[in-house]
Amino acid sequence: MLGSLRLGKFFGIDVYVHATFWLLPLFVFLSGSFSGNASGAAFDVLVLFGVFGCIVLHEVGHALAARYYRIGTRDITLYPIGGVARLERMPERPLQEIVVALAGPAVNLVIAGGLLAGLLVGNSVIPQSFSRSGLDLVDVFVIQLLVANIGLLLFNLLPAFPMDGGRVLRAVLGFGMSRVQATRVAVGVGTVVAVGFGLVGLFGIPPLGISGGNLSLILVAVVVYLLGHGELAGVQAADARQWLQRAHADGFEATTRTTQAGSRGDRFTGWMWDPVRRVWGQWQDGVLVREVAVM
Ligand SMILES: [Zn+2]
Repeated sequence: MLGSLRLGKFFGIDVYVHATFWLLPLFVFLSGSFSGNASGAAFDVLVLFGVFGCIVLHEVGHALAARYYRIGTRDITLYPIGGVARLERMPERPLQEIVVALAGPAVNLVIAGGLLAGLLVGNSVIPQSFSRSGLDLVDVFVIQLLVANIGLLLFNLLPAFPMDGGRVLRAVLGFGMSRVQATRVAVGVGTVVAVGFGLVGLFGIPPLGISGGNLSLILVAVVVYLLGHGELAGVQAADARQWLQRAHADGFEATTRTTQAGSRGDRFTGWMWDPVRRVWGQWQDGVLVREVAVM
């Protein structure tokens, strides 16, 4: 990938750092340094790298769960707003999608549990770290990493398709409706959540002391919106291809007739292409019974 740095292979999967990623540690370091605390800023950058290490493990969790279902992972790439594991395909069975989606947050849960255990055991074995004035740097590092992992766990479980929680929602809906319908509903819910992210990112939540102007949250909102609608288009297109193949097999005559005012009046049966709305319409005796979008 252009401008990406290859970190190495984890479990046989190439892990890359996207060129834009470095803006984040740079921003953290500079904003800390400008406030006059260079060593504090360096520590914050160290915590940031630790958090992104956990994000890599989160993505590896998705990849290994997918591998269990014989789905390969092309690569894992780190961006300033998080990581992406590019699976060769998405599992279409709802239960498989739920397992793959939950595998990432499950890794954060395990890491958080491990860090908490380490903190408790470490401080009971070496009680002098409590008796010192305040916590030592290792404790602060571990606590910040612990909080970050709980944050990653909860944030990823929000129903903002295509984030993990949104995938779980789509899969659960898939038990009771078609994949296209389930995706449409999940993307709708995800859009509402994305608008919420955008508003919180812009204006904050003053009563809770959350300040606005949060650029990364605004970016997440935009990415959730774009990727969600992109994936919906992909699912609709795949569904349309399947329907058209089935329609041909069923003996329907696919046609490129355009839907003009007059043609709606006859008792046409078959598929008709609407070039303006870019949808295939299935007509039965002059009645439009189904529309499928092809992107
Ligand atoms: Zn995830």
